[in-house]
Amino acid sequence: MLSAMGRCSAASTGIAKPEAGRCVVCGVAGSSPNDFICADCGDPLAVTMFCRGCRRRLALDPDTARAFLAGHGHAFDSMQGLVLKVDRCGACMADDDFVDLAIYRIRL
Ligand SMILES: [Zn+2]
Ligand SMILES: [Zn+2]
Repeated sequence: MLSAMGRCSAASTGIAKPEAGRCVVCGVAGSSPNDFICADCGDPLAVTMFCRGCRRRLALDPDTARAFLAGHGHAFDSMQGLVLKVDRCGACMADDDFVDLAIYRIRL
C-alpha cells in the first residue's frame, strides 16, 4: 500500500486553510484548486510585467519587452500574452541588482 505523499506543504504555517489555487504571478488566491494567472496580471493581447519588490504592474509595449527579454537571453516569436515576473523593477532596483525573471504566457 502506498501512503499519501502528496501534501507536503501543509505544515509550514500551522494555519488551516482551504486548498486554493493562486495566481502564479501576484499570489492572489482564487476560487479553483488550480494555480492560474489572474486577470490583473495577465492580458492575452499584451505584455505585462509584475514586480514582486514593489508590487507594481506595468504594461510593456512589445518592442520594450522584446528588448528586455533579449537582454536576458530570451527570444519569443510573439509577445502577446507574456507575463514577466521580476523581483526588482526599474523603480525599486539598485544599479547592480540582478533581476530574477520568471516568464509566463497566457493564451486565450
Ligand atoms: Zn495575479
Ligand atoms: Zn519594483
